[in-house]
Amino acid sequence: MAGSRQTIGVLALQGDVREHELVLEKLGVAHRQVRTPADLAGIDGLIIPGGESSVIDKLSRIFELREPLIAAIAEGLPVLGTCAGLILLATRVIGAIDGQQTFGGLDIEVERNAFGGQLESFEMSFDMPIIDGEPVRAAFIRAPIIRDVRGCAIIATLPNGEIVGVRSGACVGIAFHPELVGETRVHAWWLNSVVAGAQR
Ligand code: GLN
Repeated sequence: MAGSRQTIGVLALQGDVREHELVLEKLGVAHRQVRTPADLAGIDGLIIPGGESSVIDKLSRIFELREPLIAAIAEGLPVLGTCAGLILLATRVIGAIDGQQTFGGLDIEVERNAFGGQLESFEMSFDMPIIDGEPVRAAFIRAPIIRDVRGCAIIATLPNGEIVGVRSGACVGIAFHPELVGETRVHAWWLNSVVAGAQR
């Protein structure tokens, strides 16, 4: 179960860090901001927030977090990437800026800004088979779409068939923001089913 024994890191280089912290607080889970390699020690899982993937990528190199993060993900640290966080977990990116790199973890191809620009951002509800009850509420903000999936389970698909969530082992990426619209069940599922079950 999610709870007092877990400590979750939130990568705090750029993006909607506070909103993820608020979800963790609602769920009663301890959390810590991750900005340096030392901050990774002892965390049970890591959230990579939304924001601007090219900026988070650059800052991860400046803060010397890139290599430790790649190693931690490869060693099985449970990760939840939302939107820009999903892009940073993808092995292949369509629409990356020159020199933009990712951490890997999900063998997928994502297309950045696939729904269009800021004006094409939207909120919607859709069914996610892993989440019981009401449809999941989510905000899509300059969101990516997953165009190709290899060796990952698809966990979220929009009614039009677009793939917006995948899981590979302990690594989970979603194209949307549950944390911006008061939706806590995706985080709760990740904590209870991915983080709690991780073999490390
Ligand atoms: N378009 C952004 C990017 O490419 C992602 C937007 C978001 O995280 N809401 O990084």
